[in-house]
Amino acid sequence: MSYHSDIEPPNPRPARRILIVGGVAGGASCAARLRRLDESVEIVIFDRGPYVAFANCGLPYYVGDVIVDERKLLVASPEMFRERFNVEVRTNTDVIGIDRVAHTISVRDVQTAQTRTEHYDALVLSPGAAPIRPPLPGVDLPGVFAVRNIPDSRRIRSWIADRRASTAVIVGGGFIGLEMVENLVHRGLSVTVLEKLPQVMPPLDPEVAAPLMEHLVAKGVQLHLGDGLARIDEGADGRLIVVAESGVNLPTDLVILAIGVRPETQLAKAADLQIGSRGGIIVDAQMRTSDPDIWAVGDVVEVPDILTGQDTVLPLAGPANRQGRVAAESIAGRATNFRGIQATAVVGVLGLTVASTGASEKGLRRAGVTSFEKVYLHPGHHAGYYPGAHPIHLKLLFSVPDGRILGAQAIGLEGVEKRIDVIATAIQFRGTVHDLAQAELCYAPQFGAAKDPVNLAGMLAENVLNGDMPLADWLELDRTDALLLDVREPDEFAGGHIPKAINLPLSQMRDRYRELPTNRDVWTYCGVGQRGYFATRFLVQHGYRSQNLSGGYATYLAFNRVGRA
Ligand code: FAD
Repeated sequence: MSYHSDIEPPNPRPARRILIVGGVAGGASCAARLRRLDESVEIVIFDRGPYVAFANCGLPYYVGDVIVDERKLLVASPEMFRERFNVEVRTNTDVIGIDRVAHTISVRDVQTAQTRTEHYDALVLSPGAAPIRPPLPGVDLPGVFAVRNIPDSRRIRSWIADRRASTAVIVGGGFIGLEMVENLVHRGLSVTVLEKLPQVMPPLDPEVAAPLMEHLVAKGVQLHLGDGLARIDEGADGRLIVVAESGVNLPTDLVILAIGVRPETQLAKAADLQIGSRGGIIVDAQMRTSDPDIWAVGDVVEVPDILTGQDTVLPLAGPANRQGRVAAESIAGRATNFRGIQATAVVGVLGLTVASTGASEKGLRRAGVTSFEKVYLHPGHHAGYYPGAHPIHLKLLFSVPDGRILGAQAIGLEGVEKRIDVIATAIQFRGTVHDLAQAELCYAPQFGAAKDPVNLAGMLAENVLNGDMPLADWLELDRTDALLLDVREPDEFAGGHIPKAINLPLSQMRDRYRELPTNRDVWTYCGVGQRGYFATRFLVQHGYRSQNLSGGYATYLAFNRVGRA
C-alpha cells in the first residue's frame, strides 16, 4: 500500500484529441510537428488509402522504372508513426462526414464498410486534390489512367507489362503530364501529348515554353497542341483510340489523363465550411477554416499569392508541407503565419530542366497589372571558357519603376533550378532587380560565372529601369516601322535572321554607323542580347533613337515557335 493510498488521485483531464483527415504531405507533416510541440495531445490520422506518407511526387518515376522498389515510395509507415511519434494511423478509413456541433467525424472502414463516429477537439483537413476526369465518353475505359497514388501507378505498370504497351497518349501537357512523358519515354514507349492550349507547360509564357517543345519533338515525342479531348473509343484490335475535338484519331495502348486536379472539398462543403472563388477551402494565415476548431492545409485550400494578393490554389508539395507545420503550430498555441505562395516549381523533362517562380507575363496581364517590364537572356550555366557550358533561357519580370521582382522562368540543361531558387528567395524578401544585380553567389568556373545569370538578369533589368537599355517590344515586331539592325557577324546573319533586318556587325559599328538613317528608330539585336545592348548604347550616345530586342535572335526563334499573339 502506498503512502498516499488514502488520497484520491486527481481525475486526469482527457487528452485533447486532434484528428487529421489525409495522411500524406500536409497531414503527415502536421501530425509529426504537432507531436514535437505537444506530448499531451492524442493525434489520429485517417486515410482512405492503404498507405500514409507516401511520395506522390515519386509516382511517375515508379511507373518509369527509375524507382524500381515500390517500398522506396513509403516515406513513413503507420508503425513508424506509432513508435516514433505516438500518432495513431487508420488507413483504409474514409472520413465521410463532419458534425461541427457535436465535434465528431463519421468514418467508414473501406474494407468492411462499417461506420462509426470519432470525437475531435481539433480537426485538420488535408485531403488533397483529385485528378480531373472530364465527363467524356470513354474516360472510364480500361487502359485510361490518372496518377494520384501507389495503386494507380501499380495499375499503370501492370497494364504496360501485360499488354506489352508500346504507345501512350497523355492528355494534358502540364507538370504531371510531362513527368509521365519523361517516364514513359524512359520505358521505351512512343508518346503523344494532346494539349488543349497551343503550348505545353501552361504556367509558363509561351515563348519560354518554346525550347521545351522543340526538345520534346527532338526526343521523339509527338505534340498534338491546340486540340482538346473529345472522347476515347475502344478500337477493334483491343487498343484505344483517343479522339480529339478536331476529329483527329490517336490510336494507343494506354491513356494518361493529366488535365489538372480539383481540391477535394466535398467534406468541407457538406460541413458548410467557407469555400473560396477558386474552389478551395478558405483559411486564415494560421490555416484555420471558417470554423475555429477546424484547420485545412495542402491542395485543398486557397491561399494568397504574395505577388498579386489574389487567393489561389496551388497543388504543390512544398506549400502543403509548410502549411501542415503552420497548422500544427496554431493548434499548439503558437501564432505562426503562412506567408502565402508564389508558385515556385520545377520539372525535369528528358534531360531539360524547366523552372519558374512568381508571376508569368500572362498571369500579370490576367491580374490587370500593366506597370511591369521583362528581360530575356540566354547566358551559359557556367563560365563559357570551361568545357560543357549550356545556355539557360531566362525571362525575368519586374515592376516599373520600383524594380520589384515579379517572376522568373527558365529552361536549360543544367543550373536552372539553382537560379530560379535564388530569384524565388529574393521574391520572398520582396527583393528588387537591384538586389539580384548585387547578389553575391557561388562562383568557380565549373559552377557559375563571375557575373552569374542571376546577376546578369538583375543588371539587364537595371539597365532598363535607368534608361541605359531602351527596350523594343517583341510583340510589336510585325507592326514596327523601325529599322531592324542585326549586329552579329555576317556568317551568323547568313545562318538565319529576322526578315527585313539589315546586317551591320558590332565590330564595324564605329566605322559605319553613319550609314544608318537618323529619322527612324533602330531596333538592334544579336544572338542572345549582349551585342545588341552594346550597339544600342553606342547608337544612343551618337544621337540615334535605338532600342534593343531583349534576348536577341534566340528569343526571336522562341517567339516564332509559338507566335507573337
Ligand atoms: P495529398 O498528399 O494528396 O494527401 C491527401 C490524402 O488524403 C490522400 O492520401 C487521400 O487518400 C486522403 N483523403 C482524401 N480524402 C479523404 C477522406 N475523406 N478520408 C480519408 N482520407 C482522405 N508537387 C511538387 O511540389 N513537386 C512534384 O514533383 C510533384 N509531383 C507530383 C506527382 C504526382 C503524380 C502527383 C499526384 C502530385 C505531385 N505533386 C508534386 C503534388 C503534391 O504531391 C501535392 O501537392 C501534395 O501531396 C498535396 O498534399 P496534401 O496533403 O494536400 O494532399
